[in-house]
Amino acid sequence: MDLYSAARFSLHRLNLEFTSPGSIFSIYSLATSFTVGFCALSYLHWKRRGRTNFRALSRAILSQKLWLRESTLADIQLFIISVVFMPAIVTGLVISSSAVATSTHAVLDSLFGAIGPYACCSPWTKIFSTIVLFLAYEIGYWVDHYLKHRVPFLWEFHKLHHTADVLTPLTNFRNHPIDNLIFGYMLAFFIGGASGVLEWLFNQHTQSFTVDGKNILFIVFLWTIGHLQHSQFWIPFRGVWGRLILSPAHHQIHHSRDPAHYNRNLGSVLAVWDWAFGTLEIPTTKNPHLVYGADNAGAAPHSTFGILVTPMIQAAQTLRPTLENLIRSGGEAWSAFSDKTSRSRNG
Ligand SMILES: [Zn+2]
Ligand SMILES: [Zn+2]
Repeated sequence: MDLYSAARFSLHRLNLEFTSPGSIFSIYSLATSFTVGFCALSYLHWKRRGRTNFRALSRAILSQKLWLRESTLADIQLFIISVVFMPAIVTGLVISSSAVATSTHAVLDSLFGAIGPYACCSPWTKIFSTIVLFLAYEIGYWVDHYLKHRVPFLWEFHKLHHTADVLTPLTNFRNHPIDNLIFGYMLAFFIGGASGVLEWLFNQHTQSFTVDGKNILFIVFLWTIGHLQHSQFWIPFRGVWGRLILSPAHHQIHHSRDPAHYNRNLGSVLAVWDWAFGTLEIPTTKNPHLVYGADNAGAAPHSTFGILVTPMIQAAQTLRPTLENLIRSGGEAWSAFSDKTSRSRNG
């Protein structure tokens, strides 16, 4: 591919990301999220102080401290990598969810026989499938995120998302390519598995309500509060809602440097998995003005080297004790074998 073709391809991918209604960073979802956030914050100000300071809100959103930081510039680099290059890499390396679905369907058929069609072509089938696939995405996201916080090797890749010292909607893309690949496998497993069960149950290719191939329930989240999770807008859901849905403030707690907040609020949209597994932290009504970032982020965590190479070096270092143990055990086994061989030869 020559330089001109590469530039055209990159611009095409970026254009799609900005203008497709189902893409993560569409101008539509950004506009609606911004409107929702602005209205919610105005309401919260008015409720607390009896007035709304629009000028202070605008200043906070457009602050140069937010947009011209090294952290945000690193987010932009990862946004370009994620949008331009990752789709081809994920398509090439990650097993597709439809392949997992076909295998799951075949296994269930061989184990229990075909039972469908159960309610073929009913709109309720499509609504049911949409909800099941959304729940599969949500539990897959939680399990992936839990493992990345608990397994040192995986944490070193995921840590990049947490080294952001300021949150903007671009921080959503602050993920290492290897972190994205692992996430792709996890989703293929959970969504493909659920899809295979639905195929077996209804004896037809699974149909669900989607926008550009993305579950419509996820799109509703994205077009309302999704982008606000990575923003300066402290919008907390409390009470029952705080146990069902992860508000922007819930995810901001997830990025907090306060050790009391480590490994909390690991879900994407739903808070129910965090609630069920004891990792839920309900935000306070008052903005605690959290400090964001992660420890042991390396010398230059926002440089190109820091965002792409440092996570790989630090991940490899977590394997060192295991490798050393393996080499030591191998050496000891070899010595024992050599001793035994020489003794039997001499004897
Ligand atoms: Zn995390
Ligand atoms: Zn985040």
